[in-house]
Order: sequence, then structure tokens, then C-alpha cells
Amino acid sequence: TANNPGETEFLQAVTEVAESIIPFIRANDKYRDKQLLDRIVEPERVIIFRVPWVDDNNIIQVNRGYRVQMNSAIGPYKGGLRFHPTVNLSILKFLAFEQTFKNSLTTLPMGGGKGGANFDPKGKSDGEVMRFCQSFMSELFRYIGEDTDVPAGDIGVGEREVGYLFGMYKKLTNKFTGVLTGKGMSYGGSFIRPEATGYGLIYFVENMLAAKYESVSGKTIVISGSGNVSQYAAQKATALGGKVVTLSDSEGFIYDKDGIDEEKLNWVMQLKNVRRGRISEYADHFKSAKFYKDKKPWSVECDIALPCATQNEILVGDAQALVKSKVMCVAEGANMPSTLEAINTFQKHKILYAPGKASNAGGVATSGLEMSQNSLRYKWTHEKVDRKLHEIMNNVHAECILYGANESKDYVDYVKGANIAGFVKVADAMLAQGVV
Ligand code: NDP
Repeated sequence: TANNPGETEFLQAVTEVAESIIPFIRANDKYRDKQLLDRIVEPERVIIFRVPWVDDNNIIQVNRGYRVQMNSAIGPYKGGLRFHPTVNLSILKFLAFEQTFKNSLTTLPMGGGKGGANFDPKGKSDGEVMRFCQSFMSELFRYIGEDTDVPAGDIGVGEREVGYLFGMYKKLTNKFTGVLTGKGMSYGGSFIRPEATGYGLIYFVENMLAAKYESVSGKTIVISGSGNVSQYAAQKATALGGKVVTLSDSEGFIYDKDGIDEEKLNWVMQLKNVRRGRISEYADHFKSAKFYKDKKPWSVECDIALPCATQNEILVGDAQALVKSKVMCVAEGANMPSTLEAINTFQKHKILYAPGKASNAGGVATSGLEMSQNSLRYKWTHEKVDRKLHEIMNNVHAECILYGANESKDYVDYVKGANIAGFVKVADAMLAQGVV
């Protein structure tokens, strides 16, 4: 706390990991007294920079850009860029810290990083977004590279922004490399990358449910958010026979009693990705739906809850509401959407609960596959990438079981499982590389 004053999100993420890791370190000679936790919580490097740009009214705007290069023990730094007005150092450090463990869990050679800016893409023209991205990259390009640090998208950074960022990187360096992932299909992107986090989340949920001889089919599912992760989680869950009844954005949620089927979801994709509208418009368009302003969907009755919007969107009261509605499984598409108290509530009631670093690892895993394809200068088929993603999510699940199942094997603590499994590989690499 003394070293990171006011960094509440970062301290929250570290607390969650430390609670699983400290007993593990104490019980293992190999890891004891090596100051591994002290080393792992300290970013290797943080870059903070000015991002000036000119808006459509010819007014100069200034934002703050960041890149947190957290840990490169097992590979080049890897993690998304977030453009959102709430972005600050604490949020990016928590995300970079989580990313280190998540990337390790995928078994691919990627270190942890995260970056972004307190820029709000909402309401900005394409030209403004492009000029912002160009200014952002005109500084960031010095610190990244295909073998150094490979950023991707996150909240507010999708294919459009990655395109503008890549274009500027290429101009400044005169190199066409795999320096960013989440690229468009015409210039080095991978099949399935847009779908990967949402699809991977559902593959993970299927693994969790299989242990209880259950599946997504026939289940009522509550999803928050309506961006990249939510859309493709909804698509895969629906394809597997689930009934998704909610989506949300920062203004509230919609509840559709008939379910958000494929056709309605296509409409949402147009609304969110092309027209860049608000989710409330869904209830104007589809009469089976109602919009709840400034509310979150956690009191809607469901079997499965998938928080896919942002950090700390499930508070303890929300967790209690989910428990009351007899939720069977909570799996995080977003990063750290549940507070520590909310997690305790789920675990106390023996609800199947998966932390984002395990259940949303499919996004970065497929980014890793995009890096491999870029290095090969080759494109794998849609089916091949999807198969690899599915295998990776099955593996991540198996690693969670390995370290997280209790002695009688009737409950899996996925938090403990993911933290220890993610830690072991990074710690082994750090020990092998000496005190650097
Ligand atoms: P998008 O920008 O595509 O969508 C974000 C969604 O969450 C929007 O519906 C947005 O609503 C909502 N949201 C964002 N901030 C808030 C807030 N403060 N309060 C309420 N709603 C909010 O982002 P993604 O779908 O890519 O990311 C969603 C989550 O998934 C994040 O936690 C991200 O870190 C995580 N994640 C993403 C991965 C990826 O591959 N994209 C990989 C792994 C994790 P509005 O439009 O109103 O802002």
C-alpha cells in the first residue's frame, strides 16, 4: 500500500493473487525466500506520455497515454490498449498484473503488459479517432515491437483503432511486422480473433458445467456489456442452445424475455459496431424487451451470469442477488468484474465461479496465435484457429483443476487454481534468469 498510494484497483488485484500465492510459496522450498511476490508486483517499466491532437473544431486536446510493461519473464510484453475516460495508472497496473498470470495460463510465450489513454472515443468522429491514434502511436512506437511488446485492443480499442495505430507504426518504422494483434483480415489479422474472448469464455463455461453433467444448452444467461466480448459470448452461447436475456452498456441494461437470438444479435452488432449507438435503442426496436436505465442486470433470474463489461461491476449486493436467484455458474468475460467480497460470496455458496484471468484468456491466446501466423507469414483457416482456441481453453481449465480442486474433488477454487498455475511458470522463468 505504501508503495502504491491510491492505486485501489491494483491493490485489489494483488490482494486476490497474494491470498492464493503466499501459502503456496511458503509450502515450496523452491519459491520460498526469493522475494518473488515483491518482484512480480513491481512493473519492469512504466511509460507515461502526452498525447496532443486537434479535434474537428480545430481545438487542441491533450490526453495522457500509458504503457505498463509488467513482466517479460516468459515472452515479450503482451496485453491490450484501453481508451476510456476512467483510465489511470492504477487500472492499467491491475490489468497488466492480471495479464501476466493469464498469458502464462495460455501456455504461449507471452509476458504481461497493458496500456491505453484517458481518451473517450464516444461521440468522436472517425477523423478525430484517427488523429488521436496517430498521436498516441507517434510516442508509443519507440517502446514496442514484434519481439519487445505487442499491444492489442481492449475497451474502446477495436479493429478501427488497431488499424489507425498499425498504419502509424508502419509509417514511423518503415516495417510491416506483427507489432499489434487484433489487426484487420486484409493486413495480417487472424481468423477468430474478434470472436476469441467471447467464444473462449463459453468454451470454458462448458468445461465448468461438464463436471456437473450440465451444459449451456437450455440455460438462461445474463450478460453485461454489449461490446466485443459480450457480443461473441452471446453468439456462441445461443449457438449452443442457451437463452441470453440481457445486454448492457454504461447507461443501463435491456431484458428481452424471449431471448436475444442470432437475428437480434446481428442487429446489436450493427448498432454497436457500425452505428455506435446505445443499447437502450434495442428496447425501442424489439417489443419483447425492456430497458432499465442506470441499472445492472444482476437481479434478473438466470442459471449462468457472464459479466463482460468492466471492473467491479459485481458488488457484494449484486453477488447476493445472483445467489438468491440460484445462479449455477458465474464466469468472467471482463477483467476483475467481481469485487473481493463478491467472489467470497460466490465461493461461500459453492457456486461455480471463474475469474477473468482464466475464463477470458481466449482473447490473448488467439492474439498469440496471430503472432505465430505473422511470424510464419501464413494464415491458418478459421477452423484451425477455432480448434486451437478450444484446446487452449480446455487446457486452462485443466490447469485450474490441477491447483484448485479441493481434496474431496467436489469443488474447484478457480481463483486459487488460476493464480498458482499462472504463477508457477512465470516464477520458474524468473528464477532461471537470475535477479534482473
Ligand atoms: P468494448 O469497448 O468492446 O465494450 C465494453 C462494454 O462495456 C460496452 O458495452 C461498454 O459500455 C461497457 N462498459 C465499459 N466501461 C463501463 C463502465 N465503466 N460502466 C459500465 N459499462 C461499461 O470492450 P471489450 O468487450 O473488448 O471489453 C470488455 C471487458 O472484457 C473489459 O474488462 C476488458 O478488459 C475485457 N477483456 C477484453 C478482451 C478482448 O479481447 N477484447 C480480452 C480479455 C478481457 P459503453 O459503450 O456505454 O461504454
